Amino acid sequence: MILDSFNLSGKVAIVTGSNTGLGQGICLGLAEAGAKVAGVYRNTPGDTEKMITADGGEYLGIKADLVSIEPVQRIIDETIKKFGRVDILVNNAGIIRREDSINFTEKDWDDVLNTNLKTVFFLSQAAAKQFMKQGDGGKIINIASMLSFQGGIRVPSYTSSKSGIMGLTRLLACEWAKDNINVNAIAPGYMDTNNTEALRNDPKRSAEILGRIPADRWGIPEDVAGPAVFLASSAADYVNGYTLAVDGGWLAR
Ligand code: NAP
Repeated sequence: MILDSFNLSGKVAIVTGSNTGLGQGICLGLAEAGAKVAGVYRNTPGDTEKMITADGGEYLGIKADLVSIEPVQRIIDETIKKFGRVDILVNNAGIIRREDSINFTEKDWDDVLNTNLKTVFFLSQAAAKQFMKQGDGGKIINIASMLSFQGGIRVPSYTSSKSGIMGLTRLLACEWAKDNINVNAIAPGYMDTNNTEALRNDPKRSAEILGRIPADRWGIPEDVAGPAVFLASSAADYVNGYTLAVDGGWLAR
C-alpha cells in the first residue's frame, strides 16, 4: 500500500529548533507519522514535548546552542542513549539579522553563518557517520529559504547562508547517495513565525509580501509538516539533492 511508505514508525528523528515555529510543526508531523523525536532547543523547550506525548508519541528534549559545533556529537550520543539509533536529521534551527550591507557587522555575519551553515554541515556529518555505522541509510532535510534562490535586501549573511544550504544539500546528496542517505531541503516561503516578525510588523513590507503570494496568505508551520514527512520517508528514497519550495507559489510568480 503506497501510504505505508510514508509511515515513520520505528524511525528516530533529530530536529533542531524544536521549540517553536517551523521546527515545532516538523516535530509534530514526524511524530504523527510514527517517528520518535529528539528535539534540540536553545533556551526554553516550549510545549513540543507536551503536544507529542499527549498524542501518544515519544520525545526527548536536548538543550544545545548551535552557534558553535561543540554540542554536535553530544546531540547524536544523547539521541542514541535514549532511542538506540538515528534515521532522520532535520537541520531547521536558524537565525536572521537585518541591517544594510554597508553597515553590517562581523558578528552578524559570523553568528548567522555559524548557526545556519557551519553547524548544519558538522551535524550532518555526525549524523551521516551514524547512518553509515547502522548500515541502512538515512534522511537529512535542511531548511533553506526563498533567499536560496533570490537576493533579498538587508540580510547579507542570511542570504549567503541559505544560498550555501542549497549548494551544500546538493553536494552532500552526491557524496552520500551511494550509502542510501538522501539529503534534500525544504525552502519555506514567507511563514508566520518569529523569524518574520519584523516584516509582518512593517505594514508596507507586509502588504508588499502578501500581495506577491499567489496563495494569498502567509504560510504556517503545518504547511511544512507534510513535505518533511515525505522527504523523511521511504517514499522519497530516489529524491536526492533537491530543494522543495513550500511557498504558496512565491517562486512561481
Ligand atoms: P523561529 O521561530 O525564529 O525559529 C528558529 C528556531 O531556531 C528556534 O527554535 C530557535 O531557538 C532556533 N535557534 C536559533 N538559533 C539557535 C542556536 N544558536 N542554537 C539552537 N537553536 C537555535 O523561526 P522559523 O521561521 O521557525 O525558522 C525555522 C527555520 O526556517 C530557520 O532556519 C529559518 O531561517 C527558516 N525559514 C523561515 C522562514 C519564515 O518565513 N519564517 C522562511 C524561510 C526559511 P530559540 O527559540 O531559542 O531562538
